[in-house]
Amino acid sequence: MIAPVPNVAEMAPYALADLGRESMISLAQNESAFGPSPLAVEAGQRALAGAALYPDPNWTELRRAISQTHSLPGENLLCGAGSMELIGCLIRAFAGPGNEVLGSARGYLFAATACQQAGAAYVTAPEAGFTVSPDAILAAVTDRTRIVFLCNPGNPTGTRILNADIALLRGGLPSGVLLIVDQAYAEFDDQDHAAAFALAQRGATVVLRTFSKAYALAGARVGWGLFPGAVAREVRKLLNPNNVSGVSQAMAEAAMRDQEHMLAIVTRTVAIRREFTERLRRAGYVPPESHTNFVLIPFASVEAAKAADKRLRDAGLLMRGMAGYGLAHCLRATVAAPEHMARAADVLAAFREHGNDR
Ligand SMILES: *Cc1c(COP(=O)(O)O)cnc(C)c1O
Repeated sequence: MIAPVPNVAEMAPYALADLGRESMISLAQNESAFGPSPLAVEAGQRALAGAALYPDPNWTELRRAISQTHSLPGENLLCGAGSMELIGCLIRAFAGPGNEVLGSARGYLFAATACQQAGAAYVTAPEAGFTVSPDAILAAVTDRTRIVFLCNPGNPTGTRILNADIALLRGGLPSGVLLIVDQAYAEFDDQDHAAAFALAQRGATVVLRTFSKAYALAGARVGWGLFPGAVAREVRKLLNPNNVSGVSQAMAEAAMRDQEHMLAIVTRTVAIRREFTERLRRAGYVPPESHTNFVLIPFASVEAAKAADKRLRDAGLLMRGMAGYGLAHCLRATVAAPEHMARAADVLAAFREHGNDR
């Protein structure tokens, strides 16, 4: 028998969403309810003809677009094949066997997978309700902590803390601990993000963004981050050379330059989310206030969540089960087209009205 290294032998594969039957409407993967910018599609089509050549390894034009849009120094930007690639490389660069990566109890599970890949321990601090507690994170720091991983707004909770509180968290952490702020949903969160970017320019903090959510390019696999120079140098060694295809770079660049399209996606998504959340509340559910493109729906019990999931599947709708997050009594619903959200709200309202949420 060929033996893998111990940390790989012990790990379970990353649990992707159950995609159900082909005919089902997926509310399971936090993909955009709307398509990408038509300018991004055109740019991708134009770039196809260049596929004989390797892509720009430095993402020059894409970085220029990000740098100009967000007023950030281009030399501190790195791009990944999705922000997941950046998360994986950051954790491998700064944590290994004997080290701890500290997350929040309801934090993004890919961080745990990346830790297993790196042979580092992933530990979590408790949350206050469904919201990250900076104090609990600070209290959980040990000599072994190398990285604090924070997803804000959070997945799967949808809640957020203020950037001013992230600055306080940073201030309370030892300077040798790297803070990663995963802002995959920042475009849906109406607070000012300059304060978060400012932290990354001061050192020991990284801010990550993605084109997969508000830019509607999950299939293109492009993420980016703002890195202190010394951190970027190490992460760069671990990125695959030529990691983002030419087509994807062209699409992402055009999408970044079309802020109007992205903001329209956000506005429409938020309107559908509010309507869906209100309908759930009127039916008696208590979803936490979301600042993302999804809603976490707590049920009265694990059995109720399972039964509701079955009703939804029978109606052709697939939400994300949350057992992997220790939230087996919840389902997570990605905001989709209004008619699909209306159908989901109908099913869940009837479920509760018939006394099944017990
Ligand atoms: C969707 C998501 C990402 C984005 O991953 P990509 O690899 O960029 O598609 C990152 N972090 C969180 C918390 C997410 O939900």
